[in-house]
Amino acid sequence: MNKQEIIDILSNNSKNNWLFNKANQIRHNFVGDEIHLRALIEFSNVCKRQCYYCGLQSTNKEIERYRLKKEDILFYSKKAIKLGYKTIVLQSGEDDYFSSDKLCEIIREIKKNDVALTLSIGEKSFEEYKEYKKAGADRYLLRIETTDEKLYQKMHPNADFKNRINCLENLKTLGYEVGSGCLVGLPEQTINSLADDILFFKEIDADMIGIGPFIPHPQTPLKNSSSGDFWLALKVMALTRIELPNINIPATTAMETIHPNGRIIALNSGANVIMPNVVSFDCQKKYEIYPNKANSTNAEQYKTELEKRINEIRRFISKDKGFRKK
Ligand code: SAH
Repeated sequence: MNKQEIIDILSNNSKNNWLFNKANQIRHNFVGDEIHLRALIEFSNVCKRQCYYCGLQSTNKEIERYRLKKEDILFYSKKAIKLGYKTIVLQSGEDDYFSSDKLCEIIREIKKNDVALTLSIGEKSFEEYKEYKKAGADRYLLRIETTDEKLYQKMHPNADFKNRINCLENLKTLGYEVGSGCLVGLPEQTINSLADDILFFKEIDADMIGIGPFIPHPQTPLKNSSSGDFWLALKVMALTRIELPNINIPATTAMETIHPNGRIIALNSGANVIMPNVVSFDCQKKYEIYPNKANSTNAEQYKTELEKRINEIRRFISKDKGFRKK
């Protein structure tokens, strides 16, 4: 689709059913009916950045900060692997406590198992990305958040849009599977810039794209802004599936948080990945990037329930690591 066609679809709801069915069909044809589960370990909510939308930003003094010990991280990875997860995702705020050496040790330990490992720990130097890769990391998630440079600069004080792009390029160069994505519904974000976001995902040939509605957090500068729209976020996701048919697309937690059946609707509109949380309920609550984040109280129970819901929509849990099908 060209940009105008994308804009037309985004600004008009009359073709929504067609769009969601089309994205679902393309998902079926290109990546099949299997769903890849990625075990998410949110290992630190300490962050040096001030992203306006995020509850973990450093100026939030009300949040109780935590850092998991190496042993805890390995404990949760083992638990996830036992439950059958084939990918471990390590996510955190930008926390300099976790030096390259500390992280590489953890990566090497996890990679002794037959699993894929994804990192989602923000902007780092080329050298650092290189070391994580050498230690065994397979994938990296770094959302561009928005391709509207002006809006990006507004939302991210003391950050540089060009560096974010640079990081994505470095990750590609180093041979990672690269995931990106955007927020939908940031204040002042336009339909035009959402269309640019989709074209950007295509331009960088992203291997994974995560899209979620913006959800205001009460301890951030955007506390009085309204939430992003679930259906608009779903449309951006469905269009991304049409433009990049063979990539991995998660049904994001933000979608599930903002709509009671968000995950299943997303899985039927182009998504093929779910990233369940496997850390303790206490940590999940403290990793409050936005409020009322959909949590799982018990990892075992959650996986069983998920499997049931997946089977109900005649899909199944994949047994492989779920790299991009090229
Ligand atoms: N520090 C890492 C991980 C960030 S958390 C990094 O910079 O990449 C993962 C994602 O949560 C972010 O990329 C952002 O898109 C999303 N997020 C943060 N705050 C949010 C909010 N208030 N509403 C919806 N999504 C949010």
